[in-house]
Amino acid sequence: MKLSLVVWLCLSAFLWAATTGESRGESREKTRPDTLIFTNVSVVSTRNGGIEPNVTVVIKGGRIAGMAKVGFVDEGRNVHIINAHGKFMIPGLWDMHVHSAFVSPAWDERVIYPLYIANGVTGVRDMGGDFAVLERRRSRIDSRELLGPHLILAGPFLAGGKSDAQTIAVNTPEEARRAVDTVKNQGADFVKILSNVPRDSYFAIAGEAEKQNISFVGHVPYSVSAREAAAAGQKSIEHLTGILLACSSQEEQLRSQELAALANHDGAAYLRLGSQVLSTYDPARARALFLQMAQSNTWQVPTLVWTQANSRIDDPNLQDDPRLKYVPASVRREWDPAKLRKKVSAEELAALKAEAARHLELVKAMHTAGVPFMAGTDGPDPYVFPGFSLPDELEWLVKSGFTPLQALQAATFNPALFLTKSDTYGVAEIGRVADLVLLDANPLQDIGNTRKIFAVVLGGKYYSREALDKMLEAVEKLAAQ
Ligand SMILES: [Zn+2]
Repeated sequence: MKLSLVVWLCLSAFLWAATTGESRGESREKTRPDTLIFTNVSVVSTRNGGIEPNVTVVIKGGRIAGMAKVGFVDEGRNVHIINAHGKFMIPGLWDMHVHSAFVSPAWDERVIYPLYIANGVTGVRDMGGDFAVLERRRSRIDSRELLGPHLILAGPFLAGGKSDAQTIAVNTPEEARRAVDTVKNQGADFVKILSNVPRDSYFAIAGEAEKQNISFVGHVPYSVSAREAAAAGQKSIEHLTGILLACSSQEEQLRSQELAALANHDGAAYLRLGSQVLSTYDPARARALFLQMAQSNTWQVPTLVWTQANSRIDDPNLQDDPRLKYVPASVRREWDPAKLRKKVSAEELAALKAEAARHLELVKAMHTAGVPFMAGTDGPDPYVFPGFSLPDELEWLVKSGFTPLQALQAATFNPALFLTKSDTYGVAEIGRVADLVLLDANPLQDIGNTRKIFAVVLGGKYYSREALDKMLEAVEKLAAQ
């Protein structure tokens, strides 16, 4: 291929012509340009918050091939150039806690996955569901048969009780070891643990996971202290499970009472214990735990947006949310606030509110102590809108004391680090997969600017604002059925 040095100023007429060509839309699919070029863009570093203005970014073969103020550009017709003057480029966002094939079959793959892309979420960690379904979807996304984000799969849930399509029962250490073996052989990226895993099964999982060289993540089970989970090598803790209890001056006593309340299905006792956990918070004990977690690199995915949504089902404005039109009609009926309120007592809702408020403070204390964090949402649970909820989570992180850069890192740099894929994702730099989001405003000034999406690039493929709007319209139509 012939290369020529281009002086950017002379390019402007050509740039304009090439940019307007985008509106041809679908026909472009067949004649996909070899090279995509952004000019005049401000590139946001998710390493250190630096912003480099007026950069030219060259994308070839789905990767970022070049970034410079002035540079070499291929000559030829298969070049698509976008003047991104005034736009801010960030790497694609990751939602590190979703259930894309679990909550309801109405969340069709053509409904849920485009919602991520339209919101700049180019990767998700699926935290449990029918592995066969998820795996099929992943291979169709990878071959570009299906539009969707990169999928990292935790596979089926490991839980106490009975096995089903989405769950492997681990009631004994023997079952637990076999389950880890199964999950590993299926090709999952992680082993996912739920809250009711028995204590001896939990440690059997930890041991077998280490032997099989696969990480285990998920809830801290009721039967285990968060302190023990960190020491056992649990790689991520979801929803801050077990943390407040481990910060209580009466941890052991409250844990045995909690296990008894659960065994006896005594909801009232369980609720009382929740408030006792909050009132016996011991700052010195908490500090020691957080330092331990910072040292053991125990990642937290607090899913604040989910905790907040659960505690706000009495919000009178819920049904006015314009994003409801992207929720499948049958699911929307399940999200009826009156219906949701019937599932929890007034006391339970009050407890959820207290806990949600406490979680914001907890994240702040843990973050200050150096515990690593990632952004995750637990969508599509009620009012946790797939895709849209990721910027919501980033805003909650900022409310918990993160700087906008730290919040942005929780959805870019940190997931890449966690997945040991820093050479592929998480930064907008040469050599990385071209998953990019172009924003109309600076996300480091206001993290809410991550909602102001001008364009998304997924594996080198360009989606203009117009294309993203069409994507959303298509979802809206499907969701209405
Ligand atoms: Zn979950």
